[in-house]
Amino acid sequence: MVLGMLGVFGIFGIFAGSFLNLLIDRFYRGEQILIGRSHCDNCKHTLSWKDLIPLLSFVLLGGKCRYCDKPIGWINPSVELVTGVSFGLIAGFSDLSNLSSLSVLGYLSILSLAGVFIITFFADIKYGVVYQEVIVVGILAVLVYWITGEIGGTREIRGIICDLIAASCAFLFFWILHKAFKGRAMGRGDADLAFLVGLTAGWPNVIVALFFSFLTGAVFGLILVVTGAQKLKSTVPFGPFLIAGLVISLIFGESFINWYLSFL
Ligand SMILES: [Zn+2]
Repeated sequence: MVLGMLGVFGIFGIFAGSFLNLLIDRFYRGEQILIGRSHCDNCKHTLSWKDLIPLLSFVLLGGKCRYCDKPIGWINPSVELVTGVSFGLIAGFSDLSNLSSLSVLGYLSILSLAGVFIITFFADIKYGVVYQEVIVVGILAVLVYWITGEIGGTREIRGIICDLIAASCAFLFFWILHKAFKGRAMGRGDADLAFLVGLTAGWPNVIVALFFSFLTGAVFGLILVVTGAQKLKSTVPFGPFLIAGLVISLIFGESFINWYLSFL
């Protein structure tokens, strides 16, 4: 049963990932989201259904455009794969028996939130931007999740206020970094994303999320400089590290905090 749900949600996720790819590109170009056929980024040839089967088309075409032979790039299949795995895992770790309409809404908000973070992660790598409207959708998803309450036990007002303060502090921290370095260290989008990361992680997990985002960012930056892939001065988008830090905090946050407190 669990394996079946995992498979169903995984496949649904792979197709959802293909839609997220579309959003990543169309938000960037300011195009209509639902109207218009997809086309190759390079040769502008309109893509047929054969070119648009998530993951499968990429494998069958050997990672190249059918019409101009230009490599499609690793981001598109990665988005599909990551979304499939995320949706599968969310279903796998959920108790999907006895669903009420309220808990269905709660799960939909978790899946939407996962989609928001996947779009933001890959859009920042691909284009170096954080879409503000996508972050707003993420904030709404967290609010819906809080209201549906049922899944994580009904939320207390005090916890909600703590999480709002955590999110505001994270936003303020990145906003100050953004202003202090005149936008060279952090973009304004990083502050918006930090708010959503804080809201999702909550207090005190937000500390773990920010700690690991800077740690992974520093390690990654060091590797790039040492291997000569990047010069010291050039900027690396920080959004992906914020999201990596969030994922680490959601999985290991509690044990990490307990481990840290054992030293005090
Ligand atoms: Zn092409």
